[in-house]
Amino acid sequence: MPPLKNDCFALPPGVHWTPVDEALADLRTRLSCVVDTEKWPVAEALDRILATDISAPRAHPPLPNTAVDGYGFLNGRGEGDHNIPLVAQHMAAGAAPDTSVPAGTAIRILTGAALPDGVDTVILQEDVEVRDGAIHFTGPIRQGANTRKAGEDVQVGDVIAQAGRKLTPADLALLSAVGVAEVPVRQRLRVGILSTGDELRQPGETAAPGQIYDANRPMLRGLVTRLGHAPVDLGQVPDSRADLRARLNEAARSVDVILTSGGASAGDADHVSALLNEAGAMALWRIAIKPGRPLCLGMWEGTPVFGLPGNPVAAMVCTLVFGAPALALLAGADWTAPQGFMVPAGFSKSKKPGRREFLRARLRGDRVEVFASEGSGRISGLSWAEGLVELPDHAISIEHGDLVRFIPWAGFGM
Ligand code: AMP
Ligand code: MG
Repeated sequence: MPPLKNDCFALPPGVHWTPVDEALADLRTRLSCVVDTEKWPVAEALDRILATDISAPRAHPPLPNTAVDGYGFLNGRGEGDHNIPLVAQHMAAGAAPDTSVPAGTAIRILTGAALPDGVDTVILQEDVEVRDGAIHFTGPIRQGANTRKAGEDVQVGDVIAQAGRKLTPADLALLSAVGVAEVPVRQRLRVGILSTGDELRQPGETAAPGQIYDANRPMLRGLVTRLGHAPVDLGQVPDSRADLRARLNEAARSVDVILTSGGASAGDADHVSALLNEAGAMALWRIAIKPGRPLCLGMWEGTPVFGLPGNPVAAMVCTLVFGAPALALLAGADWTAPQGFMVPAGFSKSKKPGRREFLRARLRGDRVEVFASEGSGRISGLSWAEGLVELPDHAISIEHGDLVRFIPWAGFGM
């Protein structure tokens, strides 16, 4: 893999509030795949990212076959009553189509069986009466009825899955149906997760007055897992530049990308931004987004670092809005734009122009409701929510029933 450029996050000087779309466009042009390729069994390749296009080595279906249990013969029949004598053989799924059915006779045939010579039409067993070694039925039946053509689904050589695709259960079915047993996939992106802050304790430890429990690390671990990557727990560091530097050095050798939370703005204890700045490869992105500030991005010893805000709500919104598509690119997947849809608002609100806003939201009935408080420390609202409402950069005021864009968690790719 070509290494990412050291200045890949540097922004042109004089930029103040970067619109969300501009920040996304920057990520999209600056980031690329950083992981190698490995062969992987299709049956275990769920959520893995394809490294090359895959074409079908065999057609699906491979031969013309019957879609129903019934009786096969040549040509359709017109209106009126018909009798066709049966041959002694029958065709079940899996049988080689080496029988030949003479003109004017029919053969018992079961769903999935290849059509033998002399059969191009199948009548449903429910539509015939079998009597005296013959089938009796009333027409019409058109030629080709109840049969599937060879290759009508997939032809040999068709590209059935493209490089960059994250394999779904249905993709595994499609690859298997044409006989593909192994695929080249990207190695899982190793995403290091580090919490920063003197105030943090781990659940299970006692927390003194003034201390709080680390909520971001398990959340980020969950998000990274849901996004299909391999989380690597980098623990917690206090607000000490030396400790943070040592931890980043270590991490840069063992992971592909680092997510930190906390310490990302410009205060005295904000060592993430200070260190990235010192490394000379930092963009403190003053992005016009709420919640989600401050987000800083940089390179540490060749490894990209996403310095997420400490507030859990802002950290999660930043991870979904910027992290998800960026990690996808680093992992060799296609760029992913969140998939949302317009729903009538079950709330009213007005917002100022100039920044994108995301509200914790969920669908109930035919409306989307939002969490009562917009405070970015309210973790209960994150847990309450089932997605986010995205309000556009320009000013709007929303009345009950107006259409707003709801993005369910799944719409962010998790
Ligand atoms: P910071 O960005 O470091 O100034 O942190 C902003 C806010 O988020 C502060 O109230 C921190 O205590 C809080 N915070 C930072 N990291 C975490 C974490 N891992 N879990 C919960 N809250 C955090
Ligand atoms: Mg802090």
